[in-house]
Amino acid sequence: MTSTLIENAMIVTQNSLREIIRGNILIENDRISYIGNEKKEADTVLSGKNKIAMPGMINTHSHAAMGHFKGLLDDMSLEGFLEKTFKLDSERSEEGIYNSSRLSMLEMVDSGITSFVDLYYSEDMVANAAREIGIRSFLSWVTLDEEFTTQKGSPIKNAENFINSNKNDPLITPSIGVQGIYVSSDENYRKALDVSDRHGTILHTHLAETRKEVYDFVKKSGGKRPIEHLSEIGMLNERLLAAHCVWATLREVKLLAKGKAKVSWNAVSNSKLGVGGIAPVPEMLENGLTVTLGTDSNGSNNSLNPFESMKYAALSVKNERWDASKITAQTVLDMATINGAMALGRGDLGSIETGKKADLILLDSSRPNLVPTTEVNAVSNIVYSANTSNVDTVIINGRVLKHNGILSYEKMEEVRESRFN
Ligand SMILES: [Zn+2]
Repeated sequence: MTSTLIENAMIVTQNSLREIIRGNILIENDRISYIGNEKKEADTVLSGKNKIAMPGMINTHSHAAMGHFKGLLDDMSLEGFLEKTFKLDSERSEEGIYNSSRLSMLEMVDSGITSFVDLYYSEDMVANAAREIGIRSFLSWVTLDEEFTTQKGSPIKNAENFINSNKNDPLITPSIGVQGIYVSSDENYRKALDVSDRHGTILHTHLAETRKEVYDFVKKSGGKRPIEHLSEIGMLNERLLAAHCVWATLREVKLLAKGKAKVSWNAVSNSKLGVGGIAPVPEMLENGLTVTLGTDSNGSNNSLNPFESMKYAALSVKNERWDASKITAQTVLDMATINGAMALGRGDLGSIETGKKADLILLDSSRPNLVPTTEVNAVSNIVYSANTSNVDTVIINGRVLKHNGILSYEKMEEVRESRFN
């Protein structure tokens, strides 16, 4: 057994009472086994002095394999972006996917993300990278109509094979995805739903991201909007993780809520792509939807930074609604942590509590940008003042992947030297 003790930290627990307490955290193997003020013995002792301990963040929408797309797809509309992405995708090698994935995962760990949800093809290569880095991964093999895909063979079969060959991995949870209504027929959605039902996995999809996507679909379907349509064909269930949902009407928000679908809000990526407007998040929350946060990829966001995501998400709603009270720091922190765990059906993640998986981070609150931090302003400071340079320590599944601000990964140089391919 391995054990790690974090001594005397300020713990932003994110438990059901949202308690902030001062004390010690004992980690034994992959779990948190004790929180309190007793002195405990451990193999490794980390000082919690001037540190905020908080659950690691859960990034619910990304494409890790696009790590090397950084700066190649900027300043163009989503349609132009997708066209260029599909072209670049078709020229890729498995080695390129593996290296880009390692790069994105290292950026995520470095930034305080301990779990991420991915949507891409060749998830077997992404899984290899995730095993090597040690990040907790929820990998959705994307499906789309065969006429649009660059995948070899049937995307649905590829996804199911991927699920079958990656079950029971402690850090990797395989699932299926659907690219989006613009390249996926009803048949594709239904087959993907069938796979997700039979294996009990999430179904991860892009949905209602741009006005063009919605209007094109309305035209094609004779007046139906994408979320209405997915509701009619029975796709909205509690295992559906829908990324974006920017262009959703109140009726569609209610449909998503009724189906208990989960939303991944990608505020930074949406604004950078200029999708127009801000997702109707206040209405989603009022209707009881579980809203989580995603960075999207380095292609559309350029940084996998959960602090930027939280701050921008909050600011965008406040500004759009002319109301600074429309969304709180606590609500946004919930989205980045415990809501992500709920969306994935993982009650053992998302908060610092005894018995939960040891996925947590320490922020250095002695740096000027976090002074002063007390129990009163800790949550505000995490959302509005912190940045990735405050991420001192990252622990995933009980393993320390970053400490004193330095990643422990040994092949960083190899990843740094890798190029887009
Ligand atoms: Zn995406």
